[in-house]
Amino acid sequence: MIPAAFQYVKANSVAEALVLLQQHGEDAKLVAGGHSLLPAMKLRLSQPTVLIDIAAANDLKGIAVNGNTLSIGAGETYHAIASSAAVKRTCAIVADCVGQIGDIQVRNAGTIGGALAHADPAADLTAVFLALGGSVSVASASGTRQIAADDMFVAMLTTALDSGEIITTVHVPVIGAGQGASYAKLKHPASRYAIVGVAAMVSMSGGKITSARVAVTGAGPQAVRQTATEQALIGTDGGDAASKAAASKAGDDMDYLGDIHASEEYRRAMVKVYAARAISAAVAQARG
Ligand SMILES: Cc1cc2nc3c(=O)[nH]c(=O)nc-3n(C[C@H](O)[C@H](O)[C@H](O)COP(=O)(O)OP(=O)(O)OC[C@H]3O[C@@H](n4cnc5c(N)ncnc54)[C@H](O)[C@@H]3O)c2cc1C
Repeated sequence: MIPAAFQYVKANSVAEALVLLQQHGEDAKLVAGGHSLLPAMKLRLSQPTVLIDIAAANDLKGIAVNGNTLSIGAGETYHAIASSAAVKRTCAIVADCVGQIGDIQVRNAGTIGGALAHADPAADLTAVFLALGGSVSVASASGTRQIAADDMFVAMLTTALDSGEIITTVHVPVIGAGQGASYAKLKHPASRYAIVGVAAMVSMSGGKITSARVAVTGAGPQAVRQTATEQALIGTDGGDAASKAAASKAGDDMDYLGDIHASEEYRRAMVKVYAARAISAAVAQARG
């Protein structure tokens, strides 16, 4: 449980971190809250020779609402996000989700940028980010770019980020009138990681669902959208029968992980149960 030797350097801004990343190349890794990277280093699953600490970079902080978009600095902690009046008012699913992550120590240090960059198969935010159809702003030595949630999660612990890139801001839509979004998870009783987590977002008009996004985490190697469930919801009233029928299609077309906490079969069954809960709650919110 002792990590391999490493050098520690602190970056006080994104610009400083980018210079350090260029200087140290592939051997360096960013560290934000450290709650995923340090356990991996202690198990020697990750052995960076240089850690670039971005926790004090003020330009990775800030929560702002611009029109229909809520933008959260990648360095904001779960605690700050869960307590933000702006997040609760505009996109309550995000505050609710991060409030359910880990324990108080994890929520005080863990960051939204770290969670999305790490892409743990059991992470909560990955499903919420996918269901909301968010995006991240990313900076590197060669400039900036946006990555859409649909393009972000490539495989287990693997994202579309290049090694010299830093997530600077996470963007999600403001949940407006006629819309609802909810996250339901079966949590591991000790760590609170998702054994199965499902996030759903619906838009309704004239009593019918006009668009839906549903994503699952915890069950397989990476967070994935459930397009069959989404299609089954559109055009329905989102009532109990319609929600359950759509939820019964969730998880049919995905890879599963089985481990000491839950078998593949159990996760497959729970995906449908938690999809029904997330969809019902999202519909109730959309109906107002
Ligand atoms: C006991 C315990 C319980 C937990 N329970 C849960 C849970 O219930 N649900 C859950 O979702 N998670 C849980 N976690 C994980 C936690 O959410 C982590 O904090 C999170 O996964 C990573 O965020 P971090 O800021 O700590 O990232 P770090 O560990 O600092 O970094 C993780 C990875 O992201 C990279 N990185 C960090 N910031 C950036 C950035 N801005 N741009 C690009 N790359 C970046 C790092 O280089 C590293 O590769 C738990 C962790 C622990 C230790």
